[in-house]
Amino acid sequence: MSLRETEIQYLPGVGPKRAEALKAEFGVSTASGLLRIYPYRYMDRSRLTPISDVRSGAAYVQVRARVKAVWLYDAKGEIAPERIAELKFNTVKRMKAVVEDGSGEMDMTFFRGIKWTYEKLAGGGEFIFFGRPEEYAGRMSIVHPEIDKVEAALSGPGAVTSGSNGTATTTGQAVTSGAKGCPKTSFTGIYPSGEKLKNSGITGKVMVKIMQSALNAALPYQQETIPDYLLKRHRLVPLRYALRNIHFPESQEALASATYRLKFEELFFLQLSLLKQQYRRTRADNGIKMPKVGEAFNKCYSSLPFPLTGAQKRVITEIRNDMKSGHQMNRLLQGDVGSGKTMVAVLSALIAVGNGCQACIMAPTEVLAQQHFKNISRYLAPTGVKAALLTGSTRTAERREIHAGLEDGSIGIIVGTHALIEDNVRFKRLGLAIVDEQHRFGVEQRAKLWRKNQDCPPHVLVMTATPIPRTLAMTLYGDLEVSVIDELPPGRKPVVTLHGTEAKRLGLYRFIKEEIAAGRQAFIVYPLIFESEKMDYQNLENGIEEIRRHFPFPPYKIAVVHGKLDNEEKNFNMEAFSSGRANILVATSVIEVGVDVPNASVMVIESAERFGLSQLHQLRGRVGRGSDKAWCVLMTSHKLSKESKSRIELMCRTENGFEIAEEDMKMRGPGDLEGTQQSGLPIQLNIASLAKDSLLLSQAREAARAVLEEDPTLSQPQNVLLSTELRKDKYCIRDYSSIS
Ligand code: ADP
Ligand code: MG
Repeated sequence: MSLRETEIQYLPGVGPKRAEALKAEFGVSTASGLLRIYPYRYMDRSRLTPISDVRSGAAYVQVRARVKAVWLYDAKGEIAPERIAELKFNTVKRMKAVVEDGSGEMDMTFFRGIKWTYEKLAGGGEFIFFGRPEEYAGRMSIVHPEIDKVEAALSGPGAVTSGSNGTATTTGQAVTSGAKGCPKTSFTGIYPSGEKLKNSGITGKVMVKIMQSALNAALPYQQETIPDYLLKRHRLVPLRYALRNIHFPESQEALASATYRLKFEELFFLQLSLLKQQYRRTRADNGIKMPKVGEAFNKCYSSLPFPLTGAQKRVITEIRNDMKSGHQMNRLLQGDVGSGKTMVAVLSALIAVGNGCQACIMAPTEVLAQQHFKNISRYLAPTGVKAALLTGSTRTAERREIHAGLEDGSIGIIVGTHALIEDNVRFKRLGLAIVDEQHRFGVEQRAKLWRKNQDCPPHVLVMTATPIPRTLAMTLYGDLEVSVIDELPPGRKPVVTLHGTEAKRLGLYRFIKEEIAAGRQAFIVYPLIFESEKMDYQNLENGIEEIRRHFPFPPYKIAVVHGKLDNEEKNFNMEAFSSGRANILVATSVIEVGVDVPNASVMVIESAERFGLSQLHQLRGRVGRGSDKAWCVLMTSHKLSKESKSRIELMCRTENGFEIAEEDMKMRGPGDLEGTQQSGLPIQLNIASLAKDSLLLSQAREAARAVLEEDPTLSQPQNVLLSTELRKDKYCIRDYSSIS
């Protein structure tokens, strides 16, 4: 394939300097590359705004107006009209044109190109002005508008009434790219811009011209990336048609089908590359086949103290289907705090046991492992399955016994911490490994766990309470299957969330005392972002002191838990609180990971602005587990950044973890989303948005799956285009299978 790549700098009107600016802004240096930089919105050039409706702000407007007066200014101020005739324009600093359209008047302001613009406007007449209005000294003004003589501007095709492609998702009919060149249209693309572009004179209008040149130079050489049968199957327009219309739409419909095609393409290849890895792995590793549900499962199920929620049932079915499939399961289980993941873990583990295997459940902390063990043992009682707990503090004699029990298979389910992955822990036949709160485990540790079974890897279930928007999960964990428990068990009370500042602190303490008097307990949490940060401990210590002053012993009992305590002391204090002996637990964020104290009704989070949204959400989930009303108070300093403020407001407004995650993603973009720091996105998305195109993302994933179902290695002739595309540099997909 002879790909003629025109360098941007050789395009008409570009040159080396502008080419450099374009490269700095978009990271592309060829005309083909430039074609993949899409407008982020469109201006409908046939739509005019009356001057009386012009408001300052982000939106571009187009006004059709007559020039009423033109003023020139130099360093001394206004230049008298009689001086203008013999004026050398090099002393002019600014020009102002006052324009009117019958509904009102406004200014057009120029600091550059004044001579030329003056000659154009000073004669009067009617023009179309296009640009971003700003209010300046009480008057509406557009700085450096684009200007067109009225006749020229209105010679396009008939009026079209809407301009933005942002939501265009209609499926386009396949259209053949017949028409040559770029027909005139009333839509004009508005491209991302930056300081560098502006400084090198690449205004919106210039950018459009450059795109036109790029299109002329490179469009004929654009190779289709999606095979014909897929274009037909998904009713996608051909690449060249899409590229032409994304930049210069012929019509609203053409724009919609171009947008759809290009978004689909991005998401499809993203998913194709991720799923291809998944297929590679599931084909290579033969999973342990678990055809039965087994007696233990049934016994446990029939003696549950409550009916499973619909979501729990659905997820268990998904897991069960994976485990009997003969392929290794790699599933991410997402469920909000309190959604009942433990139950799902237990029933899944029992499927493994029912098929002659063992299961392990690994938790990130000793406290959590103990808690899991306690709960799980309760559920296991009717089954006769033997469970054990293995942590760093398990005594040597007991440890030996457990090791033996795992090796001879008498222990069916082992719960524990990192101690589980030590080399001397060997299983008779490990069939399922469950990891709770996945993001706390390192890559290496998980990999070790997967190797605990000799002949083939165990099924893997990763549980996380950090809600990740589904679309993001599909991408970040694209090679894992994702299950979501999107329903809380009945009877949970909403948690009232309030924003508090220092001025309200005494009132807060009074309120906590009332709750304690009513037999309830309270958490007070301090940030400890870096465990070594002196400041944080200083704050914590001051805080504890203050709380002791306000809640003196007797009658109040305060338990303290933080990272500097040794395990024994930590466990002791934690136990004091969970058993109800202590009224208040003062803690750093260690409690984030799952203690269950149903009697606690108040969660106070100090310096809440320093916590991430999902952390706040996790912490809040610690209350409202009992039958009483619960409160979460987010304490912040009086001064808050705008972003912090809207985050706190979001927390006060909703309790839905997925909504919080979605909003967080919208506010900050997916790259910054908490719990996902381990990865940027595997490819850069130029047109699709994980936040906005979730439906399309699922469709693209299904489409990719269907292709791989038939041709897992993409080696059949009809898929040559796909494997060619995936070999391009831009798909630098990391292998998540080795991470999770
Ligand atoms: P998670 O680990 O997802 O945060 P847990 O598994 O700890 O949640 O469950 C939270 C609480 O809800 C536990 O006390 C558990 O006994 C209870 N629970 C779980 N499933 C149900 C259900 N289907 N109906 C009622 N209560 C349930
Ligand atoms: Mg849990």
